Amino acid sequence: MRLADIRQRLAALGAGPKHTARVLRLWSQAQPQDSGKRRLEDFMPQRVREALPALDAELRGLARLRAEHIGEDGSSRLLVELADGQTVESVLLPRDGLCVSTQVGCAVGCVFCMTGQSGLLRQLGSAEIVAQVALARTRRVVKKVVFMGMGEPAHNLDNVLEAIDLLGTGGNIGHKELVFSTVGDPRVFELLPLQTVKPALALSLHSTKAALRAELLPRAPRIDPAELVEEGERYARLTHYPIQYQWTLLDGINDGDDELDGIVRLLKGKYAVMNMIPYNQIDGLPYQRPSWEKAAAIARRLHQRGVLTKLRHSAGQDVDGGCGQLRARVSATEEP
Ligand code: SF4
Repeated sequence: MRLADIRQRLAALGAGPKHTARVLRLWSQAQPQDSGKRRLEDFMPQRVREALPALDAELRGLARLRAEHIGEDGSSRLLVELADGQTVESVLLPRDGLCVSTQVGCAVGCVFCMTGQSGLLRQLGSAEIVAQVALARTRRVVKKVVFMGMGEPAHNLDNVLEAIDLLGTGGNIGHKELVFSTVGDPRVFELLPLQTVKPALALSLHSTKAALRAELLPRAPRIDPAELVEEGERYARLTHYPIQYQWTLLDGINDGDDELDGIVRLLKGKYAVMNMIPYNQIDGLPYQRPSWEKAAAIARRLHQRGVLTKLRHSAGQDVDGGCGQLRARVSATEEP
């Protein structure tokens, strides 16, 4: 379901833009529709008031909690069931963050990612994306939303932009606290600058070598890493937020001196932060996680050479590893 469908339904019942905005705002903030001091709903057309309880139940049914795994790092991985029984993952992050999914499965097929192994099963509607935030807010405060869960946001761009617009206008999330994450797609660089709510941007780089990047991200658009960084830099200068470059460190694959030289060449002097995340090992996939000491030394060397670098754990790795693994594990245990 798209937010546009909900707006249309409310308009057909006679709701004005203010009433519709209020219904969506209260839902996205996980507040009951009859809350608030002024009880604006008292002034809504009767048909809208009568429809509200059923609509509220329908919206809450867009994302239901199926399972939860609490991590030692303060994160909590949620398996979220959609109205048609499909499942996606959201992750409550430390410090009031939430990572949401934008697709069931993913077509990019990154060779080190569990979600990428299944291919794309279906898109999420913009309302299903916001529903993950509403669900998370029934459990914790959410002040930041990152679009880094299952799926490639650029492959579901209209729905993701609709969700971002609502969260950044009525959803009580600062524009800079909405983080659009992508492997890089020309449409993203065309459309993001035109939005009223301009999110921060995270670009999955993973290699500075075009050929290796094409191997690791087989169905990502063929944008040369240098061109990707140029596009990112334009957006960073426009929005005044640094680009967050994502780099999954794979032992012996993209952690050599050649890549370090490449990163310095591409990112030194840019308005950028490099986030390095040591790979979470996945059964059945051939990639290895480098030791924390090795990863820390890489981050230190980049920092010394003028690239602001942060070494990060993938949230909730002590519970179920990276994105897609909780969904895969629960599905496996439920197979007849
Ligand atoms: Fe898709 Fe992201 Fe997984 Fe790549 S890492 S396959 S883009 S979900």
